[in-house]
Amino acid sequence: MKTCKDSIDVLLQYLDGELPAEDAAALESHLGCCTPCVEFLRTYRATTHLCKRALAQKMPESVTASLDAFLKERLGK
Ligand SMILES: [Zn+2]
Repeated sequence: MKTCKDSIDVLLQYLDGELPAEDAAALESHLGCCTPCVEFLRTYRATTHLCKRALAQKMPESVTASLDAFLKERLGK
């Protein structure tokens, strides 16, 4: 049986998709009955999402524009 500490320890691997299927299943069953761990996971995901947005906003406009043009060209639009 997984404890909360075990779950938190493997959570990063789980989110990166690096956790073996057996461990991922054990973690998921723990998350299924442990609200604090689910909350932790939600907070963690929200935080990384915010970090990515913050990084994107720091990107200079010229870079964003050329990236945008590149993507449009590649997508044929
Ligand atoms: Zn837990």
